[in-house]
Amino acid sequence: STFEDAGVQGRVLEILKGKMGIEKPFAIQSQCLPCIMSGRDVIGIAKTGSGKTLAFVLPMLRSIMSQPGLETNESGPIGLILAPARELALQIHQVIKQFCKHLNLRSTCVYGGGPVSEQIGELKRGSEIVVATPGRLIDILTMQAGKVLSLKRVCYVVMDEADRMFDMGFAPQIGSVLAAIRPDRQLCLFSATFPKSVEQLARESLKYPVEVMV
Ligand code: AMP
Repeated sequence: STFEDAGVQGRVLEILKGKMGIEKPFAIQSQCLPCIMSGRDVIGIAKTGSGKTLAFVLPMLRSIMSQPGLETNESGPIGLILAPARELALQIHQVIKQFCKHLNLRSTCVYGGGPVSEQIGELKRGSEIVVATPGRLIDILTMQAGKVLSLKRVCYVVMDEADRMFDMGFAPQIGSVLAAIRPDRQLCLFSATFPKSVEQLARESLKYPVEVMV
């Protein structure tokens, strides 16, 4: 199959092929892209190295670019990606930035141990995409009575390495973040393993999910 078959098109396809030199989808991408692009919630059981990042980033870009809200005065991110740790968050952010610079979109990465005032400054300038670790995201959400960051415009959410987030004790933060997001959001869960904690999150938070295993 091809990226075109999977529904990737326009500028995103040009950047993918022309700037990143990525020609053919990996299995996880062929399987996830059509489902996610059609608006379905997805649970993907896949490890790092499988190509899962593009599997959730490409549909997010399309979703954001088709938002009528982009032209309004509404603020706050449209796409939100949660990752358990700083290295993974930065890695995802790097991939997204390669697209953003050509698409006139902005992405901000917020993570524990990073410079919080810089992260807040970037958020205040506006960002269609936020990549975050759960603890720092909650810290920022509760600052200045929620004036720094609002999740009310978020309609596309990814939880990457969900099993690791539970292992690190982020269950309460994950719950608070989801509670702050509109209920009709699209949610994609990725996890290397499928323990009870992830199964429960999937059961409680995903709507008729498509399950993808590679
Ligand atoms: P990930 O599992 O998302 O961290 O991706 C692992 C690596 O595979 C990264 O270096 C990607 O740039 C690369 N990659 C992802 N998808 C493709 C693809 N369809 N063709 C070639 N390389 C890819």
